[in-house]
Amino acid sequence: MSSPAVLSVRQLCKTYGSGETAVHALRDVNLEVQAGEFIVLLGASGSGKSTLLNIIGGLDVATSGELEFDGHALNDAGDTELTGYRRKHVGFVFQFYNLIPSLTVRENVELVTDIAANPMAADEALALVALSHRRDHFPSQLSGGEQQRVAIARAIAKRPRLLLCDEPTGALDYATGKLVLEVIAQINTGLGTTAIVITHNAAIAGMADRVVRLVDGRIAGIETPARKLTPAELSW
Ligand code: ADP
Ligand code: MG
Repeated sequence: MSSPAVLSVRQLCKTYGSGETAVHALRDVNLEVQAGEFIVLLGASGSGKSTLLNIIGGLDVATSGELEFDGHALNDAGDTELTGYRRKHVGFVFQFYNLIPSLTVRENVELVTDIAANPMAADEALALVALSHRRDHFPSQLSGGEQQRVAIARAIAKRPRLLLCDEPTGALDYATGKLVLEVIAQINTGLGTTAIVITHNAAIAGMADRVVRLVDGRIAGIETPARKLTPAELSW
């Protein structure tokens, strides 16, 4: 791939605690992510997936090593700079949707668009996840998969460069999870948003540019699937 690296992770280590109780969550992780790539992060529970994603997203800091976004070193960044990075460039989606129950679908998305520098309209974000018709409903009136799509709309509405998803399908059945992954893949192709997704849903195999496997805090392998599915093939 010839596009520039948007994200570089070099010799990244993360140790929780110290001495005999130290947990080495990441050990010398190296990864270059190209702009527009769709990366899937796989690994057993406890292998360091969330730790890596959180450091990449500026929610946590490494013990040592380098993290570069768009050529800017973030490993030495202070809280203010990391907050700015997260706010401007990173959209997060987690297993649980974290929607505010007393706000409508559209109002949940507007919470983000109200404070972003160059957001898309909440309605546009909702159209991208095929939920325009549910915008005036409350989260409790939606299925789990629909709530997760609202969370995705909220994450992308500020037009982040990075979309980071930590087990977005973890609370969903296989078919619903596949639909949610297809929405993420559509965003990746349609908006060019670089996406890193942790999931165990096997449907992801055909959607990723690269599959990164973590074992015990180390990258054990990186596979490039034979052919990435086109948006037309991702039917929903
Ligand atoms: P995964 O997301 O792959 O399940 P994590 O990144 O959450 O793995 O965790 C990697 C390792 O780091 C695990 O052994 C976990 O127990 C440990 N760990 C994660 N967060 C903390 C923390 N805040 N304090 C201590 N240990 C932690
Ligand atoms: Mg995790």
